[in-house]
This record gives sequence, structure tokens and C-alpha cells, in this order.
Amino acid sequence: MRIEFDNAFLRDLPGDPETGPRVREVLGAAWSRVDPTPVAAPRLLAASPEAARLLGLDAATAFADPDFARVFGGNALLPGMQPWAANYGGHQFGSWAGQLGDGRAISLGEALGGEGGRWELQLKGAGKTPYSRFADGRAVLRSSVREFLCSEAMHHLGIPTTRALSLVGTGEDVVRDMFYDGHPRPEPGAVVCRMAPTFLRFGSWQLPASRGDTALLRALADYAQRHHFPGLAGRGAEGDAEWFAQVCERTARMVAGWMRVGFVHGVMNTDNMSILGLTIDYGPYGWVEDYDPDWTPNTTDAQGRRYRFGTQPQVAYWNLVQLAHALAPLFDGVAPLEAGLERYRQAWDAAWRELVARKLGLAACGEADLRLFADLQALLQDGQVDMTLFFRALGERDAAAPDLLPFEAAFYDADARARIEAPLRDWLARHAARQADDPLEAVQRRDSMRRANPLYVLRNWLAQEAIDRAGQGDTGGIAELLDVMRRPYEEQPGRAHYAGARPEWARHRAGCSMLSCSS
Ligand code: AMP
Ligand code: MG
Repeated sequence: MRIEFDNAFLRDLPGDPETGPRVREVLGAAWSRVDPTPVAAPRLLAASPEAARLLGLDAATAFADPDFARVFGGNALLPGMQPWAANYGGHQFGSWAGQLGDGRAISLGEALGGEGGRWELQLKGAGKTPYSRFADGRAVLRSSVREFLCSEAMHHLGIPTTRALSLVGTGEDVVRDMFYDGHPRPEPGAVVCRMAPTFLRFGSWQLPASRGDTALLRALADYAQRHHFPGLAGRGAEGDAEWFAQVCERTARMVAGWMRVGFVHGVMNTDNMSILGLTIDYGPYGWVEDYDPDWTPNTTDAQGRRYRFGTQPQVAYWNLVQLAHALAPLFDGVAPLEAGLERYRQAWDAAWRELVARKLGLAACGEADLRLFADLQALLQDGQVDMTLFFRALGERDAAAPDLLPFEAAFYDADARARIEAPLRDWLARHAARQADDPLEAVQRRDSMRRANPLYVLRNWLAQEAIDRAGQGDTGGIAELLDVMRRPYEEQPGRAHYAGARPEWARHRAGCSMLSCSS
């Protein structure tokens, strides 16, 4: 297995003079050198051929190589790997948390990909680092399966995301108190190798800003622009302004992707916001089933519900405002930062209109269509209707026959259904009338709606079924789910199970409707 590395992150940015995992405050440095802690018995449980290809690897050969599990379980290094943990801070649930850093993520190096890209390879769950604070640096199988699958599922849905190369079982147990209720128990451990051009986060800038370290702030901005924002490096103040604006724009597009498919991130702390506008740090995320903008899967956030589905666009904006505060020392006045934030508002507005048009099967979204969509949202919520199944059926139904038959599978509750039946029929008639004077041809419309409204999403209980099987030693469920999620917009014969509404058993089961940060 040959991968070429060019670790510009270490070369361009100042590092911590101390190496190794002793827990400490790290000042004036973007990274600390630390090696993964070897695990007892690394075993490859799943891998993504598409991700391997990005590294120029032949997937079949690479995955069969016994070194693969050793390297991506943290027991061996390839030539050119120089492992490090990154230093960053962040706002957690609205409060400044100070230095956080990669407490259990260790980057192995920046791989030069087959197609000219740069891919930072990072092991999650690879052992202690200077940023582990009180914790063990490890990850459990259940959360690793979820991160592995969702990274690839989001990619195939067309939503910007970090990627996942591999899932390696460690052969070691990790002790977790899943609901923080005083019942810790051992669970199997795992390591995911994830990939992104860079894992820099808003918090990477917030930490030096909080310490008045403008030199590091500048160096981080230069690194990001030089390697990850083509055409911006060396343009001075104007390049900086455009850089922040592009971060805002990418963030808007990412969140619009989430809103389109019903994804709830669950922990939108500023240390979990990628500077590239990628979905990052899959933890207690979830997928909306019965439509509810107030839903969050994260039990740790159950009180304040800061990160519920419907508020994600506002939270992203709040996070960008924090980033703007952090970057302020690099700018001469606040005007360029305000212009960047304005770019977010514009990009969000455009992305939302595009979402409405695509989900409803219209060529474009006007003012009245925004109302049409809002009225539908209210009905779906009131009627507890499955978001994914509803929109998919909306594109498949015969608009001339306004009955509810195509939506049968999307209802969870008879009373809720009865409540909205009549208004939903009215709404469907309004929608049909609106489509009738829209320029899209019927075939075009159906295609466009199919591409906007996935049939398969990584429903929490589907991931949980795969996790349960993996816990019994059967990784077949992970492989099958990965395969289903490869083509989320195409109907796949024999796979109706994966396009089903939430079964009753999953309603209150841990891992399905409730998830904690314990991972
Ligand atoms: P998260 O909520 O997963 O984004 O994590 C927030 C912070 O806690 C990050 O700095 C993580 O690196 C750290 N962290 C989470 N779990 C662990 C763990 N098991 N060991 C060490 N650090 C952890
Ligand atoms: Mg995180």
C-alpha cells in the first residue's frame, strides 16, 4: 500500500515543542506530535471503496492487505506519516469552553490524492493526546459505525461532508456510561479513519483569538487560503474578506443540504463547524422521521434544544458571528466581516428557495411558493407525517388524482392523520394547480423531484440494526447499508426495508430516537 504524503500543516504552522500525550495547555501552536496508541487486535470491519479511490488506492487490493487494518487501527505507520493532534477551542452549547483540541482524533498526514487533491487522514478513537483532558481518547463501536456510515451516506446524498475510509475494530473494550445515569458498562471499541482536505474548524481560529495570538491567527488563515481556497492566497485584505465570505457561503449551502434531507447534526458547537463548510463530527445526529422542526436526537441537549432541526440555519449564522469575532484582528474594521455575514444571508435565501423549488417540483420558487411550502411544513408537523416518504411520494403521485393513497406509508398516527386529511387534500390541490402553470415538463419534473427527495436516508434505527448485528460479530449489516446509501435517489429492488417508516420498536429505543454525546 503506497500513499504519498505532504504534511503542509506541520510545515506551515507552528507546533508544540513537547511531544506525546501528557495533558497540557498548548500555547502558540496549532498542533502537537503524538502517535496513535496501538490496539489489541485490529480488524477491518468495513471500508469505503470510493474513499480509497480518492487516495489513488485500488480498493480490493488495499482492503485485503493485512497492513491496512494495522495502519488504520493505529498499530503501524506508513512512510511519510507524522501523526499529530490539532489544537482548537470552541463554544459548546453557547458558552466559551477554552482549549479543546483533538482529544481522540489523531491525524496521520496529508495524503496527495490521485486527482491532485489533498486529503488529511485522521483516526478517530486512536488513543490519548495532549487534548484528551479527563477522557480516554477512545471511541465505541456504535458511534464509529454511525460516523462511518453517515459520512459516506451524506456524500452520496450530495451534501458536503468529511469522508470515511475505514472502520477498524480494536479488540478492546471501552467503558461508557451511555446516558450519564451512573451505569457505565464495557462496549467494543473501534477506530474510524476519516478524510477531509483539512479538519480545521471555526474553533481553530477562536482559540488563538481568545489568547490574543494574532500571529497564529494569521498563520492559520494563510494555511487555509493557500491550500484550501484556490485563488485567494496573496491577495491581502481583499483575499481575507473573500475568504470569510466563502466560508459563510459554503456553510449556508451545507445547512441547506441538511434541511433538504432532514438531517439534524445534534452538536453544532463551533469546534464542530468545518472551515470548508463540510459536515463534520458525526455524534448524536439524527434524521427527521415524523416531521418536527423542534426535534433533536441529542438527549444531552434535550432541555434547551439549542440544536433542533428547524434552528440549524440560525445556529450556523450564530457560529459564523463567533468566527467573525475571532478573525476581527486580521481585518481593518468590521465592514468586510459584515459583508461576509451578509453573504451568508443571501446564500441561505437562495439555497432555501432552490430547496423549495426542487422539493416541490417547480422551475423556480417565488414568494407564493414560500408560503405554499410553509403551509405544507405546518401540515406535516401537525399530522406527524414522515418527511422522507412524504416528499418522495409527492414526486411520484399523479397530480391529477388528488387522493392520499400514495402517502399511506408516511403516516404514523391515525388521529394525527385524521386531523390533517382535509387540509392536506386542499394543499395537494393547490400544489397541483401551481405545478400546472409551471414551465417544467412532466418527465423533467419527476426527475428533478427524485434527485431532490431521497428514498433512502440513514434512519437512526437502520444504523442501529447494523450496530446490533456488528455487536454479534456480523458486519454484513454495515456493508449492506453502505451499499444502499450509495444510491439514495434510486429505487432499489428488494430493499423496501431500507425505505420504510420507523417501526414501532424504534420509537423509544436508545440509539434510534435518543442519542447522547457519550461515544
Ligand atoms: P465532540 O462533542 O465529540 O465534538 O467532542 C468535544 C471535545 O471532547 C473534543 O475536544 C473531543 O476531542 C473531546 N472528546 C470527546 N470524547 C473524547 C474521548 N473519549 N477522549 C478524549 N477526548 C474526547
Ligand atoms: Mg468535535
